[in-house]
Amino acid sequence: ASTWANVKEGPPDAILGITEAFKKDSFGEKINLGVGAYRDDKGKPYVLPSVRTAEQKVVSSTLDKEYAGITGVPSFTKAAALLAYGPSSKPIAEDRVAITQSISGTGALRIGGAFLERFYPGAKTIYIPTPSWANHKAVFSDSGLEVKQYKYYNKDTIGLDFDGMISDLKNFPDGSMVLLHACAHNPTGIDPTEEQWQQIATVMKEKNHYPFFDMAYQGFASGDTDKDAYAVRYFIEQGFGLVLAQSFAKNMGLYGERVGAFSIVCDSAEEKKRVDSQIKILVRPLYSNPPIHGARIASEILNDKSLNKQWLGEVKGMADRIIEMRALLKKNLEELGSKHNWDHITNQIGMFAYTGLKPEQMDVLAKEHSVYATKDGRISVAGITSDNVKRLAESIYKVTG
Ligand code: PLP
Repeated sequence: ASTWANVKEGPPDAILGITEAFKKDSFGEKINLGVGAYRDDKGKPYVLPSVRTAEQKVVSSTLDKEYAGITGVPSFTKAAALLAYGPSSKPIAEDRVAITQSISGTGALRIGGAFLERFYPGAKTIYIPTPSWANHKAVFSDSGLEVKQYKYYNKDTIGLDFDGMISDLKNFPDGSMVLLHACAHNPTGIDPTEEQWQQIATVMKEKNHYPFFDMAYQGFASGDTDKDAYAVRYFIEQGFGLVLAQSFAKNMGLYGERVGAFSIVCDSAEEKKRVDSQIKILVRPLYSNPPIHGARIASEILNDKSLNKQWLGEVKGMADRIIEMRALLKKNLEELGSKHNWDHITNQIGMFAYTGLKPEQMDVLAKEHSVYATKDGRISVAGITSDNVKRLAESIYKVTG
């Protein structure tokens, strides 16, 4: 028999499957709301003008192509930490943040998973919200952690099950690792309010739980990078140690460049030094060192004052377009006479809207209306445009009655 005779065919990635079905559809007005990548109002991929400028600067500076160090391009990681933790961050001032460049957000989560698996002194179980980004479970299981869940989504209110979340956090063993979406929760678009974050922090402190923040959408959610970092910075102010995964895929539109960072807020500079040495030992056999091009682009944008200002405006432009499409979708549904309450569409934040539509309804949307999105009822708001929002609303209206 062949060496691989025992390899069974696995299921296709849910989201890539949608793209396939979308491509096969010959209807001219088909709509793809599956992919988690920003589109402009013409439905086209968008390269930020600040990224184009930064890239030209990088290219014309004729830098060499030598390897970066194991933890990446230092001017990038330093600026990435400042973006996340803020210019007046105590841990940064006290030199106790260990940081490494990563293969975007996914790579940051994976390094984090591996580090916790190797060194976390408590149980090697991480709790993720129900639901969570589809890849969290796979990333953490493959890192050797056990993955369990906490309550997050309330399907009756299409909102946050705050009481359920708090009671789960209270019931987990002391010192549990908890994954938190820093902002723009994927897939639901439902975030805790600032007051709720404070209560989450209080409970996690009482229970000595350890926070793992996944911040894949800083700036992209509200249009303001400081506002979107609220939860992370609040936890730091409360004296938490924590780990953080950052992605520059969405907020800089650097998807395929794979730019991200993983950091650990330590207790002291001395601890940071030890932790940093172990991050290097962990990364070296994984991929030796990260790619340089995207990190150089991000570094230009973060470190050059005028480019930075331009970028912040462009992030806000993306966030505002998403917010506007949410409002338009809701307005169109209401004008059609929909009896349902669509407030959640505009209450939610970030790239995705969790419509509350059932899998059967999503099937009808695809088969009869050529509107493609995941079965859980999540639609990528980035795929909505001024031109297709009316037809989308009509399709949803027909499916939901
Ligand atoms: N975490 C969340 C919650 C996400 O939604 C995503 C991307 O969709 C990521 C992490 C990682 O993305 P990337 O690896 O492209 O940075």
